[in-house]
Parts: sequence; structure tokens; C-alpha cells
Amino acid sequence: MTGSTSLYVGEMEAFEIDRDNIIPESVLSRLSSSGLFGPYTGAESAVKILESVRALARRSVGLASVVLINMSVQFLVYHVLGYKETPLLQRILDHGISAVSLTEKGGGTDLARNITVAAEESGGEYCLRGEKVFTSNGLYADYFLVLALDKGEPGLFVSDDRKSMEIEALDLSSFRGAGIARVVYNCARAVKITESKAMKTVLQAINLGRLGYTAIGIGIAEGSLEDALEYTRERKVFERPLIDYQGIQWMLADTYSRLETVKALYRQALQGLPSINPVQAAVLKNEAARLAQEAAWVNIQVHGGRGLEHHSRPERLYRDARALDIGEGAREILKSFIASSLARNPGLATM
Ligand SMILES: Cc1cc2nc3c(=O)[nH]c(=O)nc-3n(C[C@H](O)[C@H](O)[C@H](O)COP(=O)(O)OP(=O)(O)OC[C@H]3O[C@@H](n4cnc5c(N)ncnc54)[C@H](O)[C@@H]3O)c2cc1C
Repeated sequence: MTGSTSLYVGEMEAFEIDRDNIIPESVLSRLSSSGLFGPYTGAESAVKILESVRALARRSVGLASVVLINMSVQFLVYHVLGYKETPLLQRILDHGISAVSLTEKGGGTDLARNITVAAEESGGEYCLRGEKVFTSNGLYADYFLVLALDKGEPGLFVSDDRKSMEIEALDLSSFRGAGIARVVYNCARAVKITESKAMKTVLQAINLGRLGYTAIGIGIAEGSLEDALEYTRERKVFERPLIDYQGIQWMLADTYSRLETVKALYRQALQGLPSINPVQAAVLKNEAARLAQEAAWVNIQVHGGRGLEHHSRPERLYRDARALDIGEGAREILKSFIASSLARNPGLATM
């Protein structure tokens, strides 16, 4: 699972996914046949899938995101909610693709105060009405995990009623192909999966998402370093390969050193699954984002003008790295969370 990305995605496929902002059905089927969408059977599945997310992100962050988001719903169903045997939840764990629909136009940071999507009960089922933005996997999903108000209180719902939704792709410069969409729910049939404390449930599940974004950040850095090494070993300037010059060597050495440091902490976090230390997840996500952004910058730099070609691997990874500071909790919010945890527990600094 951790080996070559060519197992999952070729360079031409990754290029086309980025250019067209969509993943072809044939590629999704291939991922499905590789077991990346299920069955989910516990923490071992989470580790295996996160390692695949890391490998996929070396070339196509869009693909990596689709796999990650689906698994984050499975993780929530299995570990956070405490799995209950209902046909719908079993289907989510077994196969198909799930989307996460939390953020609304009012903003994602202050999620709880921005919910306007409403759930009305009728005959044991619910009908969802309203609009969400930034729903990753929205273009491909069989199941939508939706945060909505039920009699004024936040609740988590699952809907498989696609025909009652308007789904429109967002044209973002990052994470292209990840199926990120605006979704309008026009009385979409849904079931409620939380009895109470929906916001707490979401926040618990978001830690897995942060570990997943760490995997993507590491993957972007690995892909950038792989690409930079290949290019600088071949490209000759003043009759010597670029990699012979100290200025280039130091950039590559810095990237590798930071990559190894972040990876070591990440591997430690994987060993703890399904438990996740929220402070560690926040630290890892911010550090992996910085690592990815620096590594992608170096890769473009060593490629010179060629690195700026639209949809080329260096340029794609550079754009993708940027979103890591926004999705799954923006950098500033995570820093505030880390600082408030330190203030509550100063012993963290010397553990
Ligand atoms: C690639 C990608 C994938 C996503 N996937 C999903 C998904 O699957 N499902 C979903 O529901 N949402 C998704 N989102 C939305 C994401 O959760 C939000 O973008 C994120 O929570 C930030 O919300 P916002 O964009 O509305 O920014 P805002 O909440 O408007 O914040 C704007 C900026 O202000 C900063 N800020 C806010 N408050 C403070 C403060 N108190 N102090 C300092 N700075 C502050 C933030 O850090 C941010 O940089 C995705 C976003 C991206 C980019």
C-alpha cells in the first residue's frame, strides 16, 4: 500500500484530473477494487487507508482527498458513534463513497453559529432543506453526512437521496478533482445518526481528518522531493547536473530533514489509532502543511520556468499544498487551540 503511486495513478491521469477537475469513473472503480472505499473493519483499515492517501497525494491530491473523506465518515460511524447495526450505516462501512457536508456560506470556522440547513421530521424520517458549500466528494457520493438543525439543535444526518439535491462542482485552484461541491438539499430524505452532542461528535471526527491532511501534506512533500531529485540529477547547467551545486543540495537536504521529522511524529500518531491526541493532530496538520508548501516551492524553484507549466506535477502540488492551511480547520484556529491547550496544561511543554 505504501509503494509506488503508479499502482493507483499515472502522471497523465493526474494531469487530466487536475485539468478537468473531475475523476473519471474508471479511476474511481480502480480505487474501489483496491479496497480503498471499504470494507472498513477498524483501526487497521484506518492505518492502511491513510498510508494509501499519503501515496496518492504524491501525484493527485484530488484522489487522495476522495479516499480520505470517505474514510473519515467510516471512522466516525465505526469509532466515534460506536457502530450500531443498521443497514444504512453498514452500507457506509462496506462500500460506496461518502461526502461530508458541514460548512455553509456563513463560514466554516464558526460552524455551530452558521448552520441554516434544517431537518424536519415526518414519519420517522427527516427531510433536509438548505444549502451547503465545500462538500468534499459531493460530485461522487452515494451518502451525504449533513450537519443540520432539528428543532433548533444541531444534529448529524445521513442522506442517500441524491435526486433531491442540486450538486454543483466548485472551481477551486486547490484539490482539483476532489469533487468539492455546493449542495442544495430540496427535502432530501435522511436519517438522524446522533441522539445529542452533534458538534462534539463532529469535532472528535475532525481529528481523523487532521491526521489525513497530515498524510496528504507528507505525500505532497514526498512527491515534490521525488520530482526534484529526478530533475536535478538529469538537468545540466554549466555542464554539470544541477544536483552537484551546493545551493541546490541544501534546499533538498532541508526538505528531506523536515520531511523525516514530520513523518516520525505522524507514524507515532498512527500507532495510537483509533485514539487520536487532538493537540498532536493539530500540531501535525500545521507542520505538514508548512512542510508541503516549502517542498512544493523548492520543486518549482529547481525546475525553473518549466515548474510553472499549468497542471504540471510541480505546479499542481504547489497549488494543492496551499489548501492544507484552510480545510479541516484553518491554521490560525489550530494555533489558538494549541495555545489554549498549553495554557490549560503547561506540563505539555516539558512532557
Ligand atoms: C480543500 C477544502 C476541502 C474542504 N472540504 C470540506 C468538506 O468536505 N466539508 C465541509 O463541510 N467543509 C469543507 N471545507 C470547508 C472548510 O472546513 C472551511 O473552509 C474552513 O473551516 C474555514 O472556513 P471558511 O473557509 O468559511 O473561512 P472563515 O471561517 O471565514 O475564516 C477565514 C479566515 O479567518 C481566519 N480566522 C477565523 N477566525 C479567526 C480567529 N478567531 N482568529 C484568527 N483568525 C481567524 C481563519 O483562520 C481563516 O483563515 C473544505 C475547505 C477546503 C479548502
